[in-house]
Amino acid sequence: MNEEELVYFDCAATTPLDARVLEAMAPYWTTAFGNAASPHALGRRASAAVEHARGELALALGADPREIVFTSGATEANNLALKGVAAAPAHARAPRRIITAVTEHHAVLDPLAGLAQSGFEIVRLGVDSDGHINLIELERELARGALLVSLMSANNETGVLHPLAQIGALCRANGALFHTDATQSFGKSPIEVDALGVDLCRSLPIRRTDQRGRGALSAPQAAAGARRRANGGRRARGRPPLGDAQRPGDRRARRGGRLGSAAGPLELARVAQLRDRFEAALSARVAGVTRNGDPAARLPGHANVSFAGCDGESLLRRMPALCASTAAACTSASRQPSHVLRAMGLAPERVLGSVRFSLGLSSTEREVALALEWLVHAVGLERAQGPTASC
Ligand code: PLP
Repeated sequence: MNEEELVYFDCAATTPLDARVLEAMAPYWTTAFGNAASPHALGRRASAAVEHARGELALALGADPREIVFTSGATEANNLALKGVAAAPAHARAPRRIITAVTEHHAVLDPLAGLAQSGFEIVRLGVDSDGHINLIELERELARGALLVSLMSANNETGVLHPLAQIGALCRANGALFHTDATQSFGKSPIEVDALGVDLCRSLPIRRTDQRGRGALSAPQAAAGARRRANGGRRARGRPPLGDAQRPGDRRARRGGRLGSAAGPLELARVAQLRDRFEAALSARVAGVTRNGDPAARLPGHANVSFAGCDGESLLRRMPALCASTAAACTSASRQPSHVLRAMGLAPERVLGSVRFSLGLSSTEREVALALEWLVHAVGLERAQGPTASC
């Protein structure tokens, strides 16, 4: 293995900054750096840029600019959305039940666990072996009454997509609000919030070519409750007090959003083809490889596969130049076997032998070829020698 050369297949965790995003941001780090809350010329320019970004992001989402709240990332956006809806006086008489799925990210599961402490019943739907919830079960739970349904657009580990339009229609028919964590899917799979029936509360954290330290929440219903819960900082036109608008980040969110919606289809098709070729070649060259998650309804870059007779962590340790992950990047350090794959009913050995490869706009044919060479070699060693000691 050539240690000089890296293969980056961890785009679901973070991505290199797209050169177009960097270029769009440059002035806001250097010459046009004013605080958007300041009344002087630089401040006003900054404020205008933030409002412009808000408008473009709303356009990409099919939302109203007044509903967009910039946040520090997805976790904050999800917290604001879920806790905001729960605390909104308008919903004081609504059923204190929230429906979600066991495969959600901890950025949703944890705030919901907090709401359970304050008296909400949290219904966690299971999934089938492909990673899909059962819509009949959802409908049954909705018929029992619910304030809110929180189901992610695409799973971060498998890339499996939830049928947002059908879920949105069920929520509307039963009078429940619908929140979706679109961290992984924004810019990769269409999110027209109104058209999809994500009509009352939606979270849009950004994770693509631009995601570091930025997110946004599109949430008219959540904002009222969130305003009551957050203290400190300035309140920009009635929005939650989240501190001063961070203009470079907000502009970046906008540029990333534009890339997602404008540069989309061709680039994304290329990523999907590359991923498919990678998976096909892997299955052809390595025995005992199984794919996890519905291959027909998933994001273009995700390839979650299990290697029989291997430990995923150990396998990756054998190839430090191949950047990929086991479970979610944020939980892999805790070495908990993936709660998503376990919920899909996979045998423990298959869960432990899994690796998530996530390709993105930066991925190349050369990387696929290198990754295959390294994997063939490392899987052979792993099967012959057993797992390497963890560090
Ligand atoms: N939700 C999903 C689906 C994610 O994949 C992640 C992180 O990867 C998060 C939430 C948390 O994101 P952040 O680090 O921006 O808070």
